[in-house]
Amino acid sequence: MILYAGVVLGSLPLCAFEGPAPESKAKALDSWSVRWQPLRPVNGSPVVFHVISPDPLKSLSGKWLEHEVFFFSDAKGKVWEGIAGASLETHAGNYAIQLKGVTAAGKELSFQAPVKVAKGKYHSIAASVPKQYTEPSAEQLKKIDEDKAIKERAFAHVTPEREWSGDFHPPVKAQISDVFGTSRTFNGKTQSVHQGLDYAVPEGTPVAALNSGTVLLAQPLFFEGNCVVLDHGQGLLTLYMHLSKIEVKEGDPIKSGEKIGLSGGTGRATGPHLHVAVRWQGIYLNPATLLGLQLP
Ligand SMILES: [Zn+2]
Repeated sequence: MILYAGVVLGSLPLCAFEGPAPESKAKALDSWSVRWQPLRPVNGSPVVFHVISPDPLKSLSGKWLEHEVFFFSDAKGKVWEGIAGASLETHAGNYAIQLKGVTAAGKELSFQAPVKVAKGKYHSIAASVPKQYTEPSAEQLKKIDEDKAIKERAFAHVTPEREWSGDFHPPVKAQISDVFGTSRTFNGKTQSVHQGLDYAVPEGTPVAALNSGTVLLAQPLFFEGNCVVLDHGQGLLTLYMHLSKIEVKEGDPIKSGEKIGLSGGTGRATGPHLHVAVRWQGIYLNPATLLGLQLP
């Protein structure tokens, strides 16, 4: 569910990354090394793995939390990077990343390392007003159904190759008006969870791509309004919603920081703002954590 910014919380403490901290590590005697960022992943965290293999590999695949992790290597095949994530529903605990590599000679190597996922601290807003659901008309329901199919098709798309590189950058320079993971409760019952990051920006503010990628979707949708989805490879997508203007088209290659459109309040939004979401293999992840990572 997308939750629309109706409540401006002011300067909220962000679920911040712990700064330029050392990465977490797991090391084996046969010289596998697995490190990851952020240092202490929580449910909802994107996690970037950095793997050094004992021997050069021609391929490395990984599995974590029931998802395939795609790895990208330097030319020598010893240093590998892959992005993954823990869904909001993940319970605190240790989850092993399973690695399988194949050398040029065809020898198979495997390794696993436990990765601790802690419980994230997310906000909860007790709604004091009943939710105002306008009853969609038959025509609107048809559009909602069509959008659903469009989104499912786009979201099913996984490009194993990495298109992103280096740090992820904020799409606008503006105050955050709602963080990721905020749950709205009404009469003590959770109604919806905010699965993105909202920036308080007036209509017409240029919106920049978080990183390099390819435009996967660029069109108006009923709830999301004018929506752009970028595919950054390795199963990672970023979504930009409620735009007043889309300035890219499907298939366009996009550089990190490139303008993709203008902010607005299209779709089901209570006013102009930018909703940015990060999706990895069907899971929504905390954009603020991704933006805080220091990446290769
Ligand atoms: Zn939002």
